[in-house]
Amino acid sequence: MPGAESVTPTIPERLWIANGWEDAAGGGTFPTSNPATDEVLARVPAAEAEDVDRAVGAARGAMENPDWCRMSPHGRAELLWKLADAIEAEADELATLETLDNGKTYFESRKVDLPSVVENFRYFAGLADKIQGATIPVAGPFLNYTLREPVGVVGCIVPWNFPLSLAAWKVAPALACGNAIVLKPAEQTPLTALRLGELAGRVGFPPGVLNVVSGFGETAGAALVRHADVDAIAFTGSTPVGKTIMREAAETLKKVSLELGGKSPNIVFADADLKDAVRGASTGIFYGKGEVCAAGSRILVQRTVYDDFVAAMADRAEKTVIGDPMRRDTRLGAIVSEEQLERVLDYVEAGQADGARLVAGGERARVDGRGNFVTATVFADVEPEMKIAQEEIFGPVAAIMPFEDLDDAIRMANRTIYGLAAGIWTRDIGKAHRVAAEVRAGTVWVNTYNQYDSASPFGGYKHSGFGRDLGWEAAIEKYTQVKSVWVAMDR
Ligand code: ADP
Repeated sequence: MPGAESVTPTIPERLWIANGWEDAAGGGTFPTSNPATDEVLARVPAAEAEDVDRAVGAARGAMENPDWCRMSPHGRAELLWKLADAIEAEADELATLETLDNGKTYFESRKVDLPSVVENFRYFAGLADKIQGATIPVAGPFLNYTLREPVGVVGCIVPWNFPLSLAAWKVAPALACGNAIVLKPAEQTPLTALRLGELAGRVGFPPGVLNVVSGFGETAGAALVRHADVDAIAFTGSTPVGKTIMREAAETLKKVSLELGGKSPNIVFADADLKDAVRGASTGIFYGKGEVCAAGSRILVQRTVYDDFVAAMADRAEKTVIGDPMRRDTRLGAIVSEEQLERVLDYVEAGQADGARLVAGGERARVDGRGNFVTATVFADVEPEMKIAQEEIFGPVAAIMPFEDLDDAIRMANRTIYGLAAGIWTRDIGKAHRVAAEVRAGTVWVNTYNQYDSASPFGGYKHSGFGRDLGWEAAIEKYTQVKSVWVAMDR
């Protein structure tokens, strides 16, 4: 990987508040470790309500500071662009940090996550000076126009699977729209988010515009959601926590957006290019260790090609190399934590107990005698009501099910509480469009999977949440509010 060498990263060990490093007021810390080796990487502060209050106070201060609230949109664009440049300059280091903290392969961190984070900040830099209101033709002698104003203080709560990318998905548009932010990364993976705060301060964002507090969901996260001076919560995480956040945010009537779990169908028709479909289905579930909210975890395959598909998928899974995430030939890194590993193995057990046929993987593995690894796992003959077909596993576990015809496929695809994404593999363009229209999911991929772009909205239907990340329209909807101004013209 030329130009992508891992380097020894600087490990942040304090909270980033008002452009300075701080300890938690209570002095509490917690360890964050490397899931591939079990080694503790750092102890970071465990922010409590008092620390969150300090960070929110800093953010509110930024919203009242003319250096930020009166900064021209061009100024915001310039700062966002500089932040993208700073991230790009430190991409090797940030990618290393991400891999050490999360266990994903360095290839994924360096070649996929980091470039997309840089591009994300540049895309939203481009939005900053294009946010505008309208002049509205109202009845009577009035001029009526709208202003698009920042929502205010935004609490961003992100999970551990794409720590820096998902932080960027929220931070970049929220800053472009002129808000101030308190970002709470997941307790499993706080390191790159803390570095992001530092980089924002370094490139010139005024104090308090971006604060980063490491801490636990039930303490720091909950305090952010409950805080009376936070105007909006942008959340990515599990569906149960999303429900709690929505309930908790009701008390202070915050604007809430939720990008939650999924159990996405990847539908393979008999007329598909089977080689492509197998490749797509396997990256759909094994990329990112399957710790991907849009993972194509339910693979629906038309009966006439079912046996061939199952055999090819099992073969690919067996060849998926588990190893040190820093190694070039590793395709499956370490599961983020021991707790998550147990969860994944429990689902493997449930699949077997329910009578699904295990055709590949299903085992715990170690690399050099350590770490949280699970082999690429494929279940065939899964029934739609089985646990492994209904619940989000968040691990490298595929559930394959046969279907008969197009109507059957659509029915099965929609037989879930979730609606985040779906994949369709067919050479029949009419069939592709019909399924794309009828599947209830926020993103549909045809003859491809796991494509993202800052310009294209991403988010869920049903229990996968509401509100969209990415895309300029979704950003304006989420991170601004509209003010209607009336001017009498006859006096
Ligand atoms: P995952 O299953 O990916 O761990 P979670 O929904 O548990 O997803 O976590 C996503 C984020 O939500 C993390 O930053 C976590 O700390 C935070 N979180 C967990 N519980 C709460 C809560 N009650 N209130 C606010 N944030 C929370």
